Amino acid sequence: MANVRLEAIKRRFSNVTAIEDITFEVPDGEFWVLVGPSGCGKSTILRTIAGLETASSGDLYIGDKLMNQVPARQRDVAMVFQNYALYPHMTVAQNIAFGLQMRKVDRKVIRDRVNSVAKSLALEHLLERKPKQLSGGQQQRVALGRAIARQAKVFLLDEPLSNLDAQLRDDTRAELKQIHQNLQNTTIYVTHDQVEAMTLADKIVVLDRGQIQQIGTPEVIYNQPHNRMVATFIGSPPMNILPAKYKGESFEVCGQLLGIDLSIQEKLQLLSDKNYDLGIRPEYIKISSENINPEISAENTANTAALKVKVKVVEPLGRETLIRANLPNERVPLDFPAPAAVRPNPGEILTVKLDLNNLFVFEVDTGNKLY
Ligand code: ATP
Repeated sequence: MANVRLEAIKRRFSNVTAIEDITFEVPDGEFWVLVGPSGCGKSTILRTIAGLETASSGDLYIGDKLMNQVPARQRDVAMVFQNYALYPHMTVAQNIAFGLQMRKVDRKVIRDRVNSVAKSLALEHLLERKPKQLSGGQQQRVALGRAIARQAKVFLLDEPLSNLDAQLRDDTRAELKQIHQNLQNTTIYVTHDQVEAMTLADKIVVLDRGQIQQIGTPEVIYNQPHNRMVATFIGSPPMNILPAKYKGESFEVCGQLLGIDLSIQEKLQLLSDKNYDLGIRPEYIKISSENINPEISAENTANTAALKVKVKVVEPLGRETLIRANLPNERVPLDFPAPAAVRPNPGEILTVKLDLNNLFVFEVDTGNKLY
């Protein structure tokens, strides 16, 4: 068993607290992704699990064995870094074999394992090359191959795709997912790329400023974010945030009134004249038919509310058009998709309808979700 358990792990660097009260358990065989903005402590957590960093306090268990005092090389973890860290003077085959040779594994076993790893990663024809004769994607596969050959219980991957170009990144991401499906080893993966987090993870751990914000499946993180940070970090384009004042029966958003259905009002229990942040994902904003036929009024219907926005930038994406707008006379952005054929001009005023069933309400100060 290779479950990885962190209990109240904290790491301070002189006067900086890099991570605080980090507690989670990755069950054996699962693929977890640590995600968050730069400096939030992702690498520090991974390096602490690897034994390259010592926690200031807290306990780390791998396979239910306390690891606090166990040196890195005895932890049975394989770490893959962003910069691959291949040995430049060794061939691909020697790089893959290196960890096994260090462990004095039988030569025939090494040869067989190098061949089988090379086969599974499509590296067979490259075994005699040196790293500098390989592309970035090929080097990354060798780094992965080295980790796989060691048959470590736990894989730790620190932004392994960040040096690859967009296409290769997509391909290698899919490959990684397949490798994990085949090997089923416990994997902890660090990235600041929310697409990687959403597509690869069994569970996502969202971090901000050294603390866990939320742990959940990609679906839960996307649909039920605990706070504004998680809501705006996951999703592309991100969730729109509208500053609003509650007026009893409606929200005032930059001078416009957003009528709220009675049933929602009852659930909300908000304070009159208090400021809130409203959150709505782009897919729940529709361009109103009023823009196409001005005779049709954009009056609020049950569970939708209308807002006027001013078009800033129009981005044709092929399948649809992404419209980046502002609330008129305000710098508050509102992004939303429209059918591919819709191409409004920058500066044009449009009416959009917000699906209030998918509206979030956050407390302004804390960012906590109220609804
Ligand atoms: P990135 O995405 O930019 O790699 P990260 O989320 O991995 O960032 P960490 O590298 O874990 O973040 O760093 C967390 C915090 O700890 C940062 O504020 C960083 O400056 C600080 N930190 C990390 N290592 C050290 C160190 N050796 N000495 C002092 N401060 C450090």
